[in-house]
Amino acid sequence: MPERIDADVCVIGAGYAGLTAARRLAAHGKSVVVLEARGRIGGRIWTQVLSDGSAIDRGGAWLAPQHDAIFGLAKEVGVSTYKTWVKGAHLLIGEGRTRRYTGLIPKLSPMAVLTIALAQAKIDRMAKKVPLEAPWTAPRAREWDSRSVATYLERAGIRSSIGRDLFEMAVRGVMTGDLNEVSFLHLLFLVRAHGSISTLFSIEGGAQENMVEGGAGSIAQRVADALGDAVRLNAPVRSIRQGGDHVVVEADGLTVSARHVIVAVPPALTLEIAFDPVLPDDRMTLYRNSVAGSETKTMLVYDEPFWRADGLSGQTAEPGSAAEVTLDATPASGSPGVLASFTFGRVAERLAALDPAERRQAVLDALATRLGPRSASPREVIETAWWTEEWTRGCSMAHLPPGILTRYGPLIREPFERVHWAGTETSTTSHGAIDGAVRSGERAAAEILDLA
Ligand SMILES: Cc1cc2nc3c(=O)[nH]c(=O)nc-3n(C[C@H](O)[C@H](O)[C@H](O)COP(=O)(O)OP(=O)(O)OC[C@H]3O[C@@H](n4cnc5c(N)ncnc54)[C@H](O)[C@@H]3O)c2cc1C
Repeated sequence: MPERIDADVCVIGAGYAGLTAARRLAAHGKSVVVLEARGRIGGRIWTQVLSDGSAIDRGGAWLAPQHDAIFGLAKEVGVSTYKTWVKGAHLLIGEGRTRRYTGLIPKLSPMAVLTIALAQAKIDRMAKKVPLEAPWTAPRAREWDSRSVATYLERAGIRSSIGRDLFEMAVRGVMTGDLNEVSFLHLLFLVRAHGSISTLFSIEGGAQENMVEGGAGSIAQRVADALGDAVRLNAPVRSIRQGGDHVVVEADGLTVSARHVIVAVPPALTLEIAFDPVLPDDRMTLYRNSVAGSETKTMLVYDEPFWRADGLSGQTAEPGSAAEVTLDATPASGSPGVLASFTFGRVAERLAALDPAERRQAVLDALATRLGPRSASPREVIETAWWTEEWTRGCSMAHLPPGILTRYGPLIREPFERVHWAGTETSTTSHGAIDGAVRSGERAAAEILDLA
């Protein structure tokens, strides 16, 4: 017989959204149970502790200075952050040469630099017209939602092929999908949710400014520790049955009867839970079209961050290569030296066709041309292909193809009887980021507290 638990609220998913919701509800005296499919908490945040005790982030890692909600949570549980290393030159590889630069935009021709700045300013201006709570009501919502990001970028007027490639890769990195399949309105909404497009791309003042001491998972771990036995691991939820004044949630080996449920899983995974009554067609269509993209994050661990002594920041870019973007992800102590290397969308998929040893070599070869021979001998290489993870299936967030946001967007946060929705995909401010997940958990908890 499966174990039976009664609770005020059953939260499904122990990522940042679900854990935050549970924490807020528990603080208001509600009994909660959090059902998590994996054998660990954190979801798209996955901190791994190495044999020397240092922590690396296989998933989400960086926080922008604007991310008040996650900074607030970190403070509540006593976890500190530190600044990402930015000293030294960044490298851009393309057109057969390596360019060293500092700041956000590389030293391309003046015309290329100007046209990139103009394209960014134009996107920011359009994004300002997108209401954060209801992007589908923007005056030009239908027009923007009918075109893909790729068609927009083709006409963005950026001069120089490396400039276009760099911009395309940066946008592909934030949407993590084939840009032919991403709605331009979704990109504008994302930009609005983060303030500006350069915020998304930047280290200083932007999305990559801060890292978490002990890894991004350490905040979630403290939240989960405080919830104690309320968090149940290895408990994938299979069905949600609503009727009368309660909801019955069936997970492997466990049945929970609750007054309310918060589903805090990536949209595509909601489709794998059997609902009774069934989810309405329009909501199913929204989730079927919430496509999480392909992204591989490879962590390379060295005895020390040797590139710093060579006057390099560790931030490098080579669109289309086996290491499209690298960033210095060294712990605050300065040891070991850690580089995070990414591939996005079709580039990640193309490399996935190689066998693991060939792929690893391709990454190391790419790094050797940028950072020299020492980069060829990391102590450890830890690769995570997020779109193949059973309980994530894509990252870093779900993107919407043209036509979906205007048509089905209003459903995103609308409760389905006693079921409420959290998860970074349901957030407005900081949409797609850890901070958005935390905010979505706060919002979903508040919805339920407001009912009482
Ligand atoms: C490689 C990568 C890099 C990223 N980089 C950053 C970054 O630097 N900064 C940033 O802010 N954000 C980043 N992100 C995004 C960030 O990680 C997410 O926005 C955030 O972690 C999402 O949290 P969530 O709680 O909404 O969802 P998730 O973390 O996905 O949590 C959902 C949970 O639900 C569980 N689950 C799924 N189905 C079921 C089921 N049926 N039953 C029970 N449990 C289930 C999952 O196992 C998971 O634990 C990155 C993501 C990835 C993958």
